[in-house]
Amino acid sequence: MFEFVALYLVLYVWHAMGITIGYHRGLSHRAFFCSKAVEYLWVLPGYLAFEGSPIWWSTIHRAHHRHVDTPLDPHSPRYGVMYALTGWLNEKHYAPHIDPKLQAKDLLKDPIYRFLECDGNLMAGHALSFAINFAVRGVLWYFFGWQVALASLLAGFSVLGIPLMLNVVCHMTDLGYKNYDTTDDSVNVWWVALLAQGEGWHNNHHACPGSARSGMRPMEIDTSWWVISAMRKLGLVYRVNEAKHYSLMKRAVVVRMQKRQKIRQRLQHELLSVAS
Ligand SMILES: [Zn+2]
Ligand SMILES: [Zn+2]
Repeated sequence: MFEFVALYLVLYVWHAMGITIGYHRGLSHRAFFCSKAVEYLWVLPGYLAFEGSPIWWSTIHRAHHRHVDTPLDPHSPRYGVMYALTGWLNEKHYAPHIDPKLQAKDLLKDPIYRFLECDGNLMAGHALSFAINFAVRGVLWYFFGWQVALASLLAGFSVLGIPLMLNVVCHMTDLGYKNYDTTDDSVNVWWVALLAQGEGWHNNHHACPGSARSGMRPMEIDTSWWVISAMRKLGLVYRVNEAKHYSLMKRAVVVRMQKRQKIRQRLQHELLSVAS
């Protein structure tokens, strides 16, 4: 039993980092550069957590950042919690404003990602993902026994639920705190950060989406960032984009000042038009 739990935990972290380092910070935000071999090494555990096509995942995620918490956001809980949780997964086509040919050109160059994308047929892409995921567990069963296959399956399924839950919890202002004055509902939630290997520092992430580091303050543990830092030391990743707390604070102050100035200008304009 101990071996089973230990294996499950190791696989859980591996799959979760496939999402955080591979799908999210790597493919979706290009927060660092690396060789194709290293990229595939991290995308693989993401794909084996039933996460679907890397192109679909990244295109939807880029749309989330572009239209965050507006009606065009693919999964904002502002417009329905259940839809934001899983409802959006039932969409058979990309919405008209979401198009990988425009928003994920970089990923479409990769023949493996293109194959997994099934030419934009979302249901076929999901079906292929499930088929490959179960086939891999079948292979594990054949070579290493059912315990290994089951631990892998459970770890993959557990990780599947993490980004779905994060999309909702980390966009509900009552459930966390903000470090930065972003214009959206994103908040930092410590327990999501622990489960999602650093991704729960979601307000930090929305303040600087291109950063490979999401935990900004000393107690904001970001295990994915630790791994990226280690890979940088080993020369496996380079041109790592790392945001710092003080620079984000400085930028937030500037944004606040700009907002206040705009309000002042509008008021002045309104007063002048009333006076004349
Ligand atoms: Zn978000
Ligand atoms: Zn993101």
